[in-house]
Amino acid sequence: MNCATTNAVKFSERLIEMAENLSFFQKVNDNFDKAAQFTEYPQGLLDQIKICNNSCHFTFPIKRDDGTIQTIHGWRAEHSHHKLPTKGGIRYSTLVNEDEIMALAALMTYKCALVDLPFGGAKGGIQLDRNKYSESELERITRRYTYELIQKNYIGPGVDVPAPDFGTSENEMAWILDTYLTMSPDKLDAIACVTGKPIDQNGIHGRKEATGRGVVFGLEEVCSHEDDMKQVGLDTGLRGKTVVLQGFGKVGYPAAKCLTDAEAIVIGIAEADGAIYNPKGLDIEKVSTFRAETGSIRDFPGATFFENPNKSLELECDILIPAALENQLTAENAPRIKAHIIAEAANGPTTTKADEILQKRGALIIPDTYLNAGGVTVSYFEWLRNLSHVGFGRLARRFEESTYNAMFRAVEKATGYQFSDDERQAVHGADETDLVNSGLQDTMIKAYQEIREIRLKHGKDIVDSRTAAFINAIHKIAQSYMQLGIFP
Ligand code: NAD
Repeated sequence: MNCATTNAVKFSERLIEMAENLSFFQKVNDNFDKAAQFTEYPQGLLDQIKICNNSCHFTFPIKRDDGTIQTIHGWRAEHSHHKLPTKGGIRYSTLVNEDEIMALAALMTYKCALVDLPFGGAKGGIQLDRNKYSESELERITRRYTYELIQKNYIGPGVDVPAPDFGTSENEMAWILDTYLTMSPDKLDAIACVTGKPIDQNGIHGRKEATGRGVVFGLEEVCSHEDDMKQVGLDTGLRGKTVVLQGFGKVGYPAAKCLTDAEAIVIGIAEADGAIYNPKGLDIEKVSTFRAETGSIRDFPGATFFENPNKSLELECDILIPAALENQLTAENAPRIKAHIIAEAANGPTTTKADEILQKRGALIIPDTYLNAGGVTVSYFEWLRNLSHVGFGRLARRFEESTYNAMFRAVEKATGYQFSDDERQAVHGADETDLVNSGLQDTMIKAYQEIREIRLKHGKDIVDSRTAAFINAIHKIAQSYMQLGIFP
């Protein structure tokens, strides 16, 4: 290596080292800038796409169960208004801050564009550890947070539509809905103000599992391309692939279930208080029941337990799925991570330096902007269902069934063959779950094919999947601004 090359390498290493210490939002913007180089849009338009349009920090008091008063910090950021409403989850975590919320809102913008959803990106959060609050305290906090959102015009079916994220569930969404309905009783479409609601509170079948299921639909598509799999030293298909999962929550648990259905083998699960490992595979239902009964995965029978959950990220496996929080794969642990595929179910789990180390080693990273888009995709279906005030499948299911039965009778009459009850039952009219899952699968397949095409166009060695996903998102958002007539 000559002196100039050595200096260039040192300079690029220094840049990456600096990037490791950047804020989360800055990292998202760096990924954006890297991708923007492959487009030819005016800088002003690129700046407009990248900037966070609105961000709001608010504080409010709550009375704890013991009578003390505590100040709560909450945020909501609306990253892009190029399409309305904006859409994005609400998280409860001690790590929540303005930068994190803006970064996650930005990721939502790119994610919605990638999977062709008519939303801008948003995100909200409250800085707290939910385990330290009672159910009634959480309800008071959620209702007051919603009140603040209403006061500031940060919520509404055509304005900004929250959903669950880290540390929140359908319970919080039901409280948000109820608070919003109470404050706007005459709004016909008010039930579309939030998604991820319980089924009996105008939710939709399949939303609870949607992000995890989408991760597996995405992985199935990724693993179906023989030349891509060859490059990472794997066969096609999910069957028999070993998987380690970090985070056994709303995303991780259904992902693990769907992976098992696809005959992949989940050998490791990391949780906040430790990790379990069994090279022969873990029984996901039994782990879930065990955790529900004991409050932890610690000492799950038949598995090795790691006190330090992060140790399990370094296990030999085909696929590593971070499904907990950001910044989990870092410059420190990346050199020891052995997985061939890193499937980013969480938002922002890989730091810039870790990304570089893993790619250099030949790992395939499937980016968060694409892979965890299943949640917002099914949230879109829920929003549509709420606006139309009719469940999917309600109008057509019985008609489809009678059409199929008529076909069965015609074939039996023409051929003399008698269909068995099993054969008849296998063919049925599509209900809401069937339609939601079919729409989700179609979305995940199409979005990955677009990303892959962009990689092939620019050269797989030049454009990685994350950059390709950003390029595609930039194209789609830029087109939408141009259609608005704001830019030439
Ligand atoms: P969740 O709160 O339901 O689950 C997170 C799980 O991770 C919990 O079980 C928690 O105990 C565990 N955890 C926390 N810290 C950990 C650590 N250091 N090591 C191992 N496990 C740890 O949250 P979720 O909704 O499953 O979200 C997980 C990630 O997926 C987040 O990054 C979120 O932004 C992203 N995401 C969620 C959705 C959704 O629909 N919920 C959609 C898209 C993206």
